[in-house]
Amino acid sequence: MKYTILGAGIAGLTTAIALQKIGIKAQVFEAAPDIKPLGAGLLLAANAVKAYQHLGIAEKMVERGRLLPTFEILDQAGSTITRADAGAISQKYGLHNFAIHRAALHEALLTELDAEQIITGKRAMGFEKNEDTITIQFQDGATIATDYLIVADGIHSSVRRQLLPDATPRYAGYTCWRAVVDAGDLKLSAASETWGTDGRFGIVPLTDNRIYWFACINAAANDATMRRYTVEDLQRHFGHYHAPVAQILAQTRDEDLIWNDIIDLKPLKNFAFGNIVLIGDAAHATTPNMGQGACQAIEDAVILADEMAKNSNPAVAFRAFEQRRLKRTHYIVNNSRALGRVAQLNNPVLAAARNALFRMLPERVNERQMRTLFEVDF
Ligand SMILES: Cc1cc2nc3c(=O)[nH]c(=O)nc-3n(C[C@H](O)[C@H](O)[C@H](O)COP(=O)(O)OP(=O)(O)OC[C@H]3O[C@@H](n4cnc5c(N)ncnc54)[C@H](O)[C@@H]3O)c2cc1C
Repeated sequence: MKYTILGAGIAGLTTAIALQKIGIKAQVFEAAPDIKPLGAGLLLAANAVKAYQHLGIAEKMVERGRLLPTFEILDQAGSTITRADAGAISQKYGLHNFAIHRAALHEALLTELDAEQIITGKRAMGFEKNEDTITIQFQDGATIATDYLIVADGIHSSVRRQLLPDATPRYAGYTCWRAVVDAGDLKLSAASETWGTDGRFGIVPLTDNRIYWFACINAAANDATMRRYTVEDLQRHFGHYHAPVAQILAQTRDEDLIWNDIIDLKPLKNFAFGNIVLIGDAAHATTPNMGQGACQAIEDAVILADEMAKNSNPAVAFRAFEQRRLKRTHYIVNNSRALGRVAQLNNPVLAAARNALFRMLPERVNERQMRTLFEVDF
């Protein structure tokens, strides 16, 4: 029986590891010519740690990242709007939220797999379903046949495009810059997000005295002015926010900036299509407002392997996986999108009302949300 995974991102690599643990060696095809250390920081919530614990590799991940017991939302003057303290829940579940450089996470995942399991420079362009097998066509003209196809090629998935041509990514209304910079003499222990009327600014301490920051501004999709934004433009935009926003921007070089519009995928009705299954962003890409996109991709890997261990027919396992994942991933996509709208309010009156309301919310509301995220059933 031949199993193929498309995409060597977080979903594809974690799934290859999870399948290996149940005795299935899948071949991974990745479009990029090399797997290079790319990207910025990632917040991985305790549910992702729980999934990695399940695979026996949580320590490896956590030791490359930085534990973050608290997360604060601030106004642009620096006053607290809400503060989520994961301490009590961490004690209860023995789990923590942590921040990691995306490259460090990839590197840790790759150490679990044989190099020959991953074939790079293979961009899938489409597929053909034959009687029992699937033929995948690659950009370089090559084709391969497989019995089962696990599609983990991200939000712009080529296979999903063919299966569901109407499921196109949708713009969230704001555009985003990210960078990882040297922290210099800044000593930060908590992650924070600042909700100001000129946009949102997030700060996340990483290991090795580095900081991951992100900034979101409301804009038209693919806005040419935003595309040209430099650090100087961002300084003009966010320079009046509380310390250390200006200092962090001053540590940033133009070439450190990663820019993209924030997009997600309207919840799909199906992830399983016979001997094909969609996972990760290909199935349920979400806006990053809850820091759950990669976490859900990691959960997918564990649950898919669990169902494949339980069911001798992989197509039945794919369907069972879909049943276990639809509701939870829909919850994340919908809530994350709604949270983004609230966080990006730029009308001063509405923003002040929002801040006042959030300040009144009892602690248990935050706790309830964290519990929903943490209490995932593997
Ligand atoms: C600004 C921003 C901040 C984020 N922050 C967080 C966070 O803090 N916490 C969190 O949990 N999530 C976060 N996310 C979400 C997270 O990045 C994604 O959910 C996660 O990367 C999804 O992993 P994936 O493997 O499904 O897809 P991807 O990471 O997109 O990987 C897909 C892989 O498939 C390859 N590929 C693409 N097309 C093809 C093809 N045709 N053939 C073969 N290979 C192909 C790609 O090269 C890539 O390697 C953030 C996202 C953004 C945009």
